[in-house]
Amino acid sequence: MNAIFVFPPIWTKKSPSTGITSISGYLKNFDYNTKIFDLNIDFYNEFLSDENFNEVYRIISALISKKNLSEKEKKIISIFKEHEEEYNKAKDKVDLTVREVKSKAYYDCEQYRTASKIIETASELISLTFYPYIIKEERIENVERKLCFEDYKAESSKYTNVFSSFMKRKAMEIAKERPACVGISINFEGQMLAGLTLSYILKKEYNIKTVLGGTHITRSMENILRDFDFFDDFADFVMIGDGEIPTLRLLQYLDGKTDINNVPSIIYKKDNKIIQNKLLDEQISISFVQDFEYTKHKEYFLPEKVFPINISKGCYWGKCTFCDFGLQYTNKKLDKVISEIKYMKKNYGAKYFYLTDSALAPRTAKEFASMLIEEKLDIRWTTFLRFENVYDKEFLFYLYQAGLRCVSWGLESGSQKILNLMNKGTKIDVIKRILKDSSMIGIANRLTVIYLFPGETFADFCDTVNFIKENQKNIFQVTFYSYLLKRYSYIYNHMEEFGIQLTTSDIKSEYKPEEFGFKYDIKDYNKKLQEIAPLIENIYKNPDETLLYFSNIENNYMNSDIML
Ligand code: SF4
Repeated sequence: MNAIFVFPPIWTKKSPSTGITSISGYLKNFDYNTKIFDLNIDFYNEFLSDENFNEVYRIISALISKKNLSEKEKKIISIFKEHEEEYNKAKDKVDLTVREVKSKAYYDCEQYRTASKIIETASELISLTFYPYIIKEERIENVERKLCFEDYKAESSKYTNVFSSFMKRKAMEIAKERPACVGISINFEGQMLAGLTLSYILKKEYNIKTVLGGTHITRSMENILRDFDFFDDFADFVMIGDGEIPTLRLLQYLDGKTDINNVPSIIYKKDNKIIQNKLLDEQISISFVQDFEYTKHKEYFLPEKVFPINISKGCYWGKCTFCDFGLQYTNKKLDKVISEIKYMKKNYGAKYFYLTDSALAPRTAKEFASMLIEEKLDIRWTTFLRFENVYDKEFLFYLYQAGLRCVSWGLESGSQKILNLMNKGTKIDVIKRILKDSSMIGIANRLTVIYLFPGETFADFCDTVNFIKENQKNIFQVTFYSYLLKRYSYIYNHMEEFGIQLTTSDIKSEYKPEEFGFKYDIKDYNKKLQEIAPLIENIYKNPDETLLYFSNIENNYMNSDIML
């Protein structure tokens, strides 16, 4: 085996992941033998079981009668007692509930709500033996303190963390394949602990070459560049940015076919120095399909698989002051995307697609829709769009005819003043009109909102909530995010303009408002949010969940007077 790619937990358990699928697909074109291990979904399918639940329940019940409890044991018992009633309700129901969410029962809103609650409760109880780590709502948290890069390293090299025994078994399976290297993709902070635990075991116990890459690793680059030990314990190579061409060159280097200086975008340690090669400056010139072979025998926590694909990288707008998607904007050729969809339909029975583009440009959306219609591909898809005035009824109906059933829109704020500060380039009256047209046609509107933005007053926040309330019949779901200062955003480089001064010297990829001295009374905010609680608490939260639900229920939104 030339290379194995791993997607570690914790991330969504609902759909397959992308990124390494593209690298693996690209390498297969050069006759490299590659394989993907989705350890995220393997972990969930193992972790959430009646057997695990009952075992942890038994261990904690035994602790209760123990004398001379340690501080940690006291905390575990206190959490257990606080939630005992919920835990009892979930007892002996985990296996059945997991089967339910993977079946048609998913489409019954109330049944899905109850099932999701049982799964979350079970997840919380099962992770109690690894206190202070709790796995909840597809996140892993240390409930005692926020971890930083150094902590992840320290925890990952111990043999007692929540992932240790799972990763030991998986490392053994990986080692049996005798890969020349293992690429571990860490795109989110929640994957750090598991990803580093696996890389540590692979290096220390099997002497396998490891490559760490992914968005979160790229964002942690400054920490990595200062850290000699990191290369001894966790990674032979760290890869920055897109991985297709760099991984190909790396395999050629490992085969003795090229010099290491010809491998772009890697960081490694040599002669006690950390060396950073030049960044990739070329684009992929061949067409290839993503490698989703690994999904064939996997069960995700939805009744149908929703496949992630993308048309573009970066953002065609790219001007929002809070955003760090500042990559150069590139578009794939649409005929290649259509071939990819055909391949996925034929080989994986794919019908549902999640276009993960930051924001699909209107012209691209129209061309894509026209090709789907022309080729009669009959798929259902979801994507992210910007509130552009060009999206009128006819345009949106055309996208609907091409299978679009759910759009995630970055509303961000219902206050024009804040939208201007964010440089969103959107207008409240246009947003209102688009939401109405879109929902009338039968497209589910998901909104994201950022609150506690620098310069936002409580009155501005109320404008946002009131806007949502006034338009709620055209909105399916809303997610509120508290503002985070991102290192590669416009605001980070112009903090004075926004009245921000960091009070911490830690190097991180993002900072919370309290880290730049913002104080707010969150109680008032929460009270106001109650006015739109049903939209925030909608059980079909994520784009893949909404897409499936909306594609499979009868809806009465179709307006017969819309004619093209
Ligand atoms: S917030 Fe969205 S629209 Fe704005 S720059 Fe980022 S990706 Fe583009």
